[in-house]
Amino acid sequence: MPELPESDAARRRIADQCLNRTIEGFDLGEVSHVELPSKAERDRLVGTQFSTTRRHGKYIFAGTKGGPWLHVHLGMSGSLRVWEEGEAEPDFARLTIRFEGGRRLSFHDPRKFGVLALVEDVDAFIEDKGLGPDAMQIGDNAFADVIGSTRGAIKSALLLQSKLAGIGNLWSDETLYRCGVLPDARACDLEAATISHLHRAMQDIMGLVMDKNADYSQLPQDWLIHHREAGAACPRCGGTIAKKTVGGRTAYHCPEHQTGA
Ligand SMILES: [Zn+2]
Repeated sequence: MPELPESDAARRRIADQCLNRTIEGFDLGEVSHVELPSKAERDRLVGTQFSTTRRHGKYIFAGTKGGPWLHVHLGMSGSLRVWEEGEAEPDFARLTIRFEGGRRLSFHDPRKFGVLALVEDVDAFIEDKGLGPDAMQIGDNAFADVIGSTRGAIKSALLLQSKLAGIGNLWSDETLYRCGVLPDARACDLEAATISHLHRAMQDIMGLVMDKNADYSQLPQDWLIHHREAGAACPRCGGTIAKKTVGGRTAYHCPEHQTGA
């Protein structure tokens, strides 16, 4: 499921390839279970241009000059594809934006849980959703306040979007793996130095994933992401990767070097 770095890679596709081009129209694919802008909302965008982008947690926004923002949430499996007129349309394109000059931007979503909607005020939208601070923006002290005060499992605390927006199953596991903390350790029992280490590791990990444009093949081989399988050898200590359910989510970890300190 896309998390902050994957959402940022999608945002960058809009920023790099779709700004300052007039929107000429839209093509709709098969759309059940995908939330899309209404015909009236799409009509508002025709003739305008995206001039800027924003991201908060997993939420992406493309803004028109002085007008509404198009909000994109990738859901379970969504992605944004940029292509040119004359090329084959991507499979599972639920909505395609036609820009001047033949540029196309498609929302590709095989599992259909994504959202595209018009938003007037991004800050009000973030507040309405009850989202906590963006995981890449939050400072050390604020992180310690929100995460260190949580009585539940540290993995569950990292996943709560009302505390910290953007981190999901994959990158919470990676962060805990790097820091040697068990996913079901109680957050409020962790030492201050451990909480601070988690903060630095989380931002370092997601920062590198963003630098690599969420291309996992370019991530270091000793990261957990390449070994997420029960019984796999831990590249850090030679232990055995295990999985357990924490707060209803599957957590991969190494019980040898993740001790919960
Ligand atoms: Zn290990």
